[in-house]
Amino acid sequence: KEARGEYGPEQTGRVIAHFGRTLDIADDAHRLFHCHQRANLDSLVTGDRVIFRAGDDATGVIEARLERDSTLERPDARGNLRPVAANVDRILIVFAVEPAPHPNLIDRYLVACEATGITPVLLLNKTDLLPEDGGELRRWLAEYEQLGYDVVPASIKEEHGLDVLTRQVHEFTTVFVGQSGVGKSSLIGALLPEEDLRVGALSEQQRKGTHTTTTARLYRFPAGGELIDSPGIREFGLMHLTERQVADGFIEFRPFLGTCRFRDCRHRSEPGCALLDAVEQGHISASRFASYRHIIASLEA
Ligand code: GDP
Ligand code: ZN
Repeated sequence: KEARGEYGPEQTGRVIAHFGRTLDIADDAHRLFHCHQRANLDSLVTGDRVIFRAGDDATGVIEARLERDSTLERPDARGNLRPVAANVDRILIVFAVEPAPHPNLIDRYLVACEATGITPVLLLNKTDLLPEDGGELRRWLAEYEQLGYDVVPASIKEEHGLDVLTRQVHEFTTVFVGQSGVGKSSLIGALLPEEDLRVGALSEQQRKGTHTTTTARLYRFPAGGELIDSPGIREFGLMHLTERQVADGFIEFRPFLGTCRFRDCRHRSEPGCALLDAVEQGHISASRFASYRHIIASLEA
C-alpha cells in the first residue's frame, strides 16, 4: 500500500478536518479523501491547501503543503502560539444587543484581527432587541463604519440580515468569533444545512475519545464560501498582545505612529506626542483613544 505506484496523480486539496496524523481532504470537486501524511511534512491544520494523491476507497496520501495566505494562532497550555487554522480570509466578530458588549471588547477583537492581517467584519446580532431609535449601540457602530469596517446588523430570530451575511461570507473562508451568548451557534445553524452540522458534531465526539485537543472543521456554505469552526477558534481574540500590536491595531492611529517627538513615546503625557495631538485635533476619537489606554493598562496588570 505504501508503494507510490498505488496512488493516483498529484492533485490539490484542502484540509477539512484532522485526527492526529490522518486528515480528511476535499478535492476541487468537493470529494472527500481520508488521507495520511508523509512523515517529513510539518503538521497541517484545517484550511491548509495541500498536494495529495488519491488511493483506493477514498483514501490518499498528502505529499506537500502549499504556502499559507494567513494563519490563525492560539496559545497552547504553555503560552506558545500554535496554528489552529490556515487560509482564513474573514474574521466575523459577532456581538449582540444582549449580552451587551463589554466596553473595549470590540476594540480588543479588532486589534487581534489586525495583528493577523485577516479582514474583520462586525456583526451585530439580535437587532430585534434594539429600541426604536436604534439606541446607543447603532450610533456607536457608525463610528466603526467611518473607520472603514463593514458592519452587518442581523436578527436570527426575525431572519433579518442573513442575505447580507451570506454575501459577506460567500467567496471567502470565514471564522466566527465572539463572547458566549451572542448567537454564534444560531447564526451558523441558520447558514449551514443541519446535515453538515450533525456530521461535524459526530466526528467531534469520535475525536474526543482519542485526542484531548479539539481541532477545527471546515464546512461549505450552500451559497458559497467556507466556515472553519471549533470551540477554540470562537474564543480567538482574547490572547495576549504586545503594546506595539495594540497601537497598530487601532487603524486610525497608524499615520501618527512613529511621528512623536520621542522615538520611545508611550503616548501618555509626553510633549510632542503625535497621538495626543491627533486626539486634541479630533483626528482620533477620544473614546477609541481611551479604549487604547484601557487595553494597554490591562497588558500591564
Ligand atoms: P453562542 O453562545 O454565541 O453560540 O450563542 P447561541 O447561538 O447559543 O445563542 C444564545 C441565545 O441567544 C439563544 O437563546 C438564542 O436563541 C438567542 N438568540 C440568537 N439569535 C437571536 C436573535 O437574533 N434575537 C434574539 N432575541 N435572540 C437570539
Ligand atoms: Zn506619542
